Amino acid sequence: MKVYFIGAGPGDPDLITVKGAKLVETCPVILYAGSLVPKAVIERAHPDALVLNSADMDLDEITAVYQQAQQNNQDVARVQTGDLSIYSSLAEQTRRLNQLGIDWQVIPGVSSFQASAAALGQELTLPEECQTIILSRASGRTPVPDKENLKSLAQHEATLCLFLSATLIRKVVRELSEVYPQNWPVCVVEKASHPEQRIIRGTLADIAEKMHQAKIRSTAMIIVSKVFAIDDFVDSKLYDPSFSHGCRKAKVIDE
Ligand code: SAH
Repeated sequence: MKVYFIGAGPGDPDLITVKGAKLVETCPVILYAGSLVPKAVIERAHPDALVLNSADMDLDEITAVYQQAQQNNQDVARVQTGDLSIYSSLAEQTRRLNQLGIDWQVIPGVSSFQASAAALGQELTLPEECQTIILSRASGRTPVPDKENLKSLAQHEATLCLFLSATLIRKVVRELSEVYPQNWPVCVVEKASHPEQRIIRGTLADIAEKMHQAKIRSTAMIIVSKVFAIDDFVDSKLYDPSFSHGCRKAKVIDE
């Protein structure tokens, strides 16, 4: 018996991995995070499977589902949104499973920050301009360690992807404005990969108002990055004819 933590992807039901989809089809117990996991993913379940929504369960109740499945010797597909490495409560669940001696495994998923970048058609790193992506959130009801405050993260000028922060956009703008000029680019993707996906492009000066006008309050990714405004970046080394790497020898260019 095993619990499979499966990243369901950002919303489009076709964006679950083949491995994840096969497990949803075969596991006799499905426990899914109701608020964001697409119905079509759960519809893959076997007609006889026990399908439970974890949306109104607390950690003890979720753990009880795992214990019951252990007693029945049934595998569990635990389906959650995006990828399990980011804001997924994976760690607290697996800590309980370890205490109970229940075996588990993680199947990765497409994260919403990746789906948002795809929606924007934007590479989040650009050669010699930006080589780092920071995944974080604004502190609100859930505290963020002070050393990770937005002002300090902004110092790097890395691409900043903010989860769980749509309602805190004014605070985000206030803190980032201490480091960046008002024309610093910010893009917001609401419900990336869903049919109702919306994109807002702006700057620190106008993004909060644009989000307010559009009534975007949840399921949105805020991406703050100079990459949106840089067109004259150099080509990468990957396809540079004078650069050798494991798969390709440099061409000798005659002077
Ligand atoms: N593990 C998930 C994140 C869960 S936290 C992942 O890897 O994506 C929930 C937050 O993720 C939301 O507040 C929002 O910021 C973001 N999010 C989830 N789905 C999204 C989507 N389809 N489009 C944009 N943002 C999304």
